[in-house]
Amino acid sequence: MGKLIIVSNRLPITVGSVIKKSSGGLVSALSGVSTDTKMIWIGWPGTFSSNSDNSAKLKETLINDFDCYPIFLSKKEVSDHYHGFSNACLWPALHYFSLHIHYSSRFWDSYVNINRKFAEYIAENAEDDDLVWIHDYHLFLVPQMLREMKPNIKIGFFLHTPFPSFEVFRCLPHREEILKGLLGADLVGFHTYGYLRHFRRSCLRLLNIESDIAHVLVGKRFCKLGVFPIGIDSGLFLKELGTKKFIKRRNELKKAYANYKVVLSVERVDYTKGILRRLEAIEKFLYHHKHKLDVAFVFIGIPTRGEVKEYKELLGQIQKKVGEINGQYSNIEYTPIHFIHKTIPLSDLCALYSIADVAMITPLIDGMNLVAKEYLACKTDSTGVLLLSEFAGAAHELISAILVNPYDIDNVTKNLENALLMDDAEKDQRLIPMRSHVLRYDANHWAQTFLDELKQSRKRIKQQNNTNLKFISEKVLNLIKKAKKVAFFIDYDGTLREFEDTPDKATPTKEILKIISELARCRNHEVFIISGRKEADLQKWFKGVNVTLIAEHGYSILLPKSDKWQMTNPEIDLSWKKKVIKILSQYVSTPQGTSIEEKKSAVVWHYRQADPEFGKWKSQQLLGNLLEILTSENVVVSQGNHIVEVSSSQINKGFAVRHFMQKNNYDLIVCAGDDKTDESMFQINDPRIISIKIGLNQTFAKYKILSPALFKGFLAKVAKRGNI
Ligand code: UDP
Repeated sequence: MGKLIIVSNRLPITVGSVIKKSSGGLVSALSGVSTDTKMIWIGWPGTFSSNSDNSAKLKETLINDFDCYPIFLSKKEVSDHYHGFSNACLWPALHYFSLHIHYSSRFWDSYVNINRKFAEYIAENAEDDDLVWIHDYHLFLVPQMLREMKPNIKIGFFLHTPFPSFEVFRCLPHREEILKGLLGADLVGFHTYGYLRHFRRSCLRLLNIESDIAHVLVGKRFCKLGVFPIGIDSGLFLKELGTKKFIKRRNELKKAYANYKVVLSVERVDYTKGILRRLEAIEKFLYHHKHKLDVAFVFIGIPTRGEVKEYKELLGQIQKKVGEINGQYSNIEYTPIHFIHKTIPLSDLCALYSIADVAMITPLIDGMNLVAKEYLACKTDSTGVLLLSEFAGAAHELISAILVNPYDIDNVTKNLENALLMDDAEKDQRLIPMRSHVLRYDANHWAQTFLDELKQSRKRIKQQNNTNLKFISEKVLNLIKKAKKVAFFIDYDGTLREFEDTPDKATPTKEILKIISELARCRNHEVFIISGRKEADLQKWFKGVNVTLIAEHGYSILLPKSDKWQMTNPEIDLSWKKKVIKILSQYVSTPQGTSIEEKKSAVVWHYRQADPEFGKWKSQQLLGNLLEILTSENVVVSQGNHIVEVSSSQINKGFAVRHFMQKNNYDLIVCAGDDKTDESMFQINDPRIISIKIGLNQTFAKYKILSPALFKGFLAKVAKRGNI
């Protein structure tokens, strides 16, 4: 493996009169995994340089001394990309605050430009065997941009925020571009399974791309999905707990709060953290306990994003509310709420975690929430209670916490009372297993598992693609070349041609016509396009190409150079069609976007343009309905790609292939197709048949090729090696 390239919006350094390395969770998470690999960072250094000489000098120092490769940005770029699109548009959408979304096309243009700048700089510095790990929502477009520049590189992406439900995600302007950007990665990681599920649903609803739990098939390749809950830098905290500074601060704080129980909240002053609602719950608590006020509420409010309007307003609202509560419930010796709007030193933070009787962490939504985990890690010799919002990602792991719904204020107050009254045995029983979980699954474990998966995923996909093709290439290509007469029965939609929103848009590309013509040019080849399409479509599209056309799944045949279609089975009974059309008509009003197509030997219900989930569900209903009503008819009811088709049981693709096999003396017969109607060809029991399924679903075919693009590559190879 080459080097590991970590890409984040900000480099892990602070540039001042001296350059300091930051000790963020990501830095320490990665320090343990890169012992045998060189690791570099790419990102913005956090400074605006006044002249290019200074920038060049700084760049050299950062690269040589810190392995940090800086991307310099102007004030305007930071304003539009970071404060604008990232924090005023994406952040609220990702956290379900659609009303806070502020969009302007200027923000978006800048977002695209900066993402491209990142992708170009990564491409400049990356080799094919490097691993690139991109972090967070500021860089959603980078995976796809980078893939286009460096197709062989392995690209991972981790989202540190929630991924919201489709109904909220769809509020974002440019939502499709964002999804496509992300799908450029080989692996996309989320904190929880819920976020992964939401992402898949958005891919389905917005891009019409189906997926399974672990993969999205994007053209020729897979984008893998995974759940990797981030952990804390446990080493940093455990080390701090052993320092004299920490012990001194803990003793001082213990003394200061000797007469009180301490309830602690630590967070950035962000509207996602639920601070105002928490204050309401505390106000209620104080009201109920006004005769015995012995609880101190300590709020560490880390300053954040003061440039964004909502953050400024929120800070004012919090300060006002804290003032009101303190005014109401303070006395000479006692002030209930200590609101500190500052970052505090690590020793103070650990001392507070250590002495706090309750950590009250009630975000309205939070990707993970590291504070909850840090609190547990610092509980070495004292007991404590974690009161945690069920909407924090951490709630999925910390299941012995008291989990609350932060919107249910009375219930939060009640649970705060329970937490303060909990006996020590129960506290231990809840806290000890959670603490060992947090220490075990720390940041280092998180980074290691993500990177292991990234390395693996690409390998497996490569193998899968190659084995399919290689197997077919080596064995079958030789067989085809040696054979005296080979017939190719090739399905059209989903096999040669990728699907479009509407079937009429899926006309053959120049590439398809070229490949098929070249394939048919070889002396030992006979090519058949065998499709469910109507006669007229096939005839128009393949005019002048030396192939036999088989329309409507084997209903009729048009030989090369002829313009007269022949029926394969002149005895066919089609009296059932009227009845079927009547049934299908009941399914075209809902869902919207469905239609009926009448062919000579079949009737098809299409739902490609309908709501995909509703359409699928309705298609099941329709299937049941048809099977029930049509028991005595000569029909086959089948489900294809976004269609339900009723066709005559007196014809199918298998019959058509047999018809030609009987008439001709082929040494080999290649049958290729992507859906259920092609299975009748694959089921023909004859050793001369080479059956190829396009796609991943279950099949009777002997070989599988992932996508039409790969299949066309295979045909092109066959044509190239053929005897002209
Ligand atoms: N933290 C900090 N300065 C402080 C107090 C805490 O930087 O004065 C850290 C805290 O230790 C935690 C992080 O801020 O690691 C907050 O992370 P969390 O996941 O809880 O929320 P986020 O800010 O990522 O939304």
